[in-house]
Amino acid sequence: MDDRRLLSSSSPRARSQGVLAALGLLVASSFLCLRARSKTIPQGGVALGAISSDDAKSGVTVVAGAAAGSLVLLRNAAKQTTPRFVVVARSSSDVEEAVRYARRERLRVTVLATGHDYDGRSCGADTLNINTHQMRWARFVGPDLMSVGPGTPWMDVIEAALEAGMAPVAGYDASVGVSGFTLGGGHGPLSRQHGLGADHLVAATVVGADGIARAADDRLLRALRGGGGGTFGIVTELVIRVVPAPKQVTQLGFKNAPVDEAFMDRFFHNATWWKLLPPAWAGWKNLWCKDGVPRATGVYLYTGDDPNPLDLESMRDLYPALKDYARVDAFPSLLHFAKHLGSSPLGSHARQSIANVFVETIHPNLTDLVLKAACDATEDLTIFYNDVLGGDVIKNPPYPSAVATGFRDALFEVGANVFWTNPRDDAANVQASYEANKPLVDIAPASYLNEWTSHPRHLRVDDWFSRFYGGKENYDALLRVKTEIDPCNMFWVRHGVGSDQPSFFDRC
Ligand SMILES: Cc1cc2nc3c(=O)[nH]c(=O)nc-3n(C[C@H](O)[C@H](O)[C@H](O)COP(=O)(O)OP(=O)(O)OC[C@H]3O[C@@H](n4cnc5c(N)ncnc54)[C@H](O)[C@@H]3O)c2cc1C
Repeated sequence: MDDRRLLSSSSPRARSQGVLAALGLLVASSFLCLRARSKTIPQGGVALGAISSDDAKSGVTVVAGAAAGSLVLLRNAAKQTTPRFVVVARSSSDVEEAVRYARRERLRVTVLATGHDYDGRSCGADTLNINTHQMRWARFVGPDLMSVGPGTPWMDVIEAALEAGMAPVAGYDASVGVSGFTLGGGHGPLSRQHGLGADHLVAATVVGADGIARAADDRLLRALRGGGGGTFGIVTELVIRVVPAPKQVTQLGFKNAPVDEAFMDRFFHNATWWKLLPPAWAGWKNLWCKDGVPRATGVYLYTGDDPNPLDLESMRDLYPALKDYARVDAFPSLLHFAKHLGSSPLGSHARQSIANVFVETIHPNLTDLVLKAACDATEDLTIFYNDVLGGDVIKNPPYPSAVATGFRDALFEVGANVFWTNPRDDAANVQASYEANKPLVDIAPASYLNEWTSHPRHLRVDDWFSRFYGGKENYDALLRVKTEIDPCNMFWVRHGVGSDQPSFFDRC
């Protein structure tokens, strides 16, 4: 949800060029790594045992040394780390072998699908990193069930599903990966209507710390539905339920609209209106300040069946200030919408800091806080807010899930997001992010782990157990599952379940 202001202001052409450039870099670095492999795999004790001795046969590509770093391109460059090895897995058995090797060598294991994680948790210094970008597929295995590879971005699924008139509950930006999104909860344009991404995970195959791939049982599946990525083993296949595709997607978009306190009050204080709005409406807004004037860019999306949704007019009436800045677009499918939205090149591999809170009830000071946060800060900072669910929309998720109640009950997700490119600006921007997010964090106890960047000395969240996992009962249940699948705590990510413990390689 980071790039909204940029997304709407960059041309589709510039966006696709940026994406192509990023892909080209990844492909080029893969070739470099393959070439460098025989030189860079260390000799003797740290050679990758079974993997390196027969990698031609098994098809596993193992990369070590500097080349490994170039294969792991994290979307948030400020969180870039260099793993000890990268294993480019092509199958579940590649993942099994890599995990067994890591256990023997007492290495922590990290896993990367697209590298979108804002906190760089898809990699880790000195870890064995499993790169799943070649395990990319999306195919039907039932009328409304799709098997999806762990390295698959949503765009592939949206495209494959549409051929059968179906759609996944994906995120807004279709370059996001199915794995991290689903394991962390996942909200998108269809969420107010159909629930969260995690609610649509039906089955999964997971490689645990013993290096064996198994179908997840009910307890593990519950943990995978929102309990966090990189923690409960390595998922090598997801089976997700898809829903009938929207017949069209209507977008009421507005750009750079100057806003004032009254306008923001309407956003934030119209909870009843938002709650009662038909669930086929969703959207997001970005707010920032230029020359002391707060401005907003955003969209309301309608994915319901009404070809001329009545509420559109009422929405326009509700926001008369938008009239000069708003326009309505209709897309024939979610795929068209996703392609139109694209993915911002600046967001790819730029530096970024983001945090957020879930707002359940409207706090009287929210407008003041948000306007102050936006206007006190650098112009690189935006306040975003996502219309996540809206009250009672999803009362009864179809399967048990680990999604925190704060997420499920949220009307909005509000946070501050800063982009920059020069590493010399890190300290100033982290400080700006902290100053804008701290007052929000102080008024709301729940936050979305998938949209969070942590900094050692800023915005330390000592309440992370409850903030991200909703409380002791849920956390303890997740910890029990974690301990079963990973007694050695080798799948360790920051703020993941069990991350307050060290690794115990002697236990496995
Ligand atoms: C531009 C952008 C737009 C976004 N839009 C949305 C949005 O609309 N809605 C929303 O809910 N979120 C959104 N997000 C946040 C997104 O949900 C998270 O960044 C998510 O973790 C990305 O998952 P990934 O698999 O693509 O990324 P990765 O960085 O590759 O992985 C993310 C996490 O999942 C773990 N993981 C990856 N693969 C596996 C696996 N096979 N097994 C176990 N763990 C695994 C990783 O270890 C890591 O901890 C957005 C992020 C960005 C950068």
